[in-house]
Amino acid sequence: MVGGGWADAAGRAHVARANGSAAPGGWAAGGRLGLAGTGTGTQEIAGIGMGETIVFFRDDDVGEWTPALRFHVDLLLELGISCHYLVVPSYLDAGCAATLRDLKQAHSALVHFNQHGHTHEQILDGVAVYSEFAGGRPYADQRDAIERGRDRLAGMLAEAFEGDVFTPPCHKYDGNTLRVLGDLGFDTLSAGVRVDPASRVYYTVGRALGRIELLGKRVSYHRRVMPERRLAEVSVAIDVHEDQDAGGRIEKDASRLWAEFETARQHLDAVGIMTHHQVCDTPERQKTLRDFTTRLAEDPSVRFADLLDLAPSRSAA
Ligand SMILES: [Zn+2]
Repeated sequence: MVGGGWADAAGRAHVARANGSAAPGGWAAGGRLGLAGTGTGTQEIAGIGMGETIVFFRDDDVGEWTPALRFHVDLLLELGISCHYLVVPSYLDAGCAATLRDLKQAHSALVHFNQHGHTHEQILDGVAVYSEFAGGRPYADQRDAIERGRDRLAGMLAEAFEGDVFTPPCHKYDGNTLRVLGDLGFDTLSAGVRVDPASRVYYTVGRALGRIELLGKRVSYHRRVMPERRLAEVSVAIDVHEDQDAGGRIEKDASRLWAEFETARQHLDAVGIMTHHQVCDTPERQKTLRDFTTRLAEDPSVRFADLLDLAPSRSAA
């Protein structure tokens, strides 16, 4: 059962940095970061000191309560780091749902449960793939899937479910997906953002043209309002358990993850870290995640936030 074995990290120094009410200046009354600038410009975070980086965590593909998920949840709670857990509606079983509700009740500020597609699969050109909203699915079809998924999570998770953030499986979406999300009242899309020079140029061009896709690749609006004006994007830059295109997984050790983080923070004031807890099923991978997250928690220039704290205001759009 949950609730008994987690260390209470409330007294630790890095938690004070992560806690909005304890941060000096720049935090809005509701605990959100104060944001300056318009919806389309670069978003500056008021109150963030020189050299500081905001970090948020997102863990995907939640559905069953497994030892690997428990390890992940325990670790971040122990470190006092909040995390958005993205739940796949069709994966979620009743036992896991009950555990997640208990977790939310015990640690409401540190765990968030959001929607990750509906079934996390589709057939494209006769082949079963893990994406769900690729290939030009019609609006009504996408709306039906996302609405069913949302209703299932709302029913099973009750008040533990937060229907504001949506992550499309494999970060695949199109204009119809975004219209559906806006129509259903979601306000933040979380996908991926790259920081290599070519991608940064490409995003600049794509955003100037108001495109969400250009030459077959996705244009990131990380920490900006999207062309679908009802949505903001807050995306992840570090893929801890990254799949290779050719299949198999890239085994990243803690020093490689730290190097990726150092590169990302040179270009982004808010760096999202994506995990896939189901991969943390060996002592080696668990140690890697523990080493990396502990180093983040001990870095005085890192401040933790929730994903939603980083969304620009749509009222400026
Ligand atoms: Zn996924």
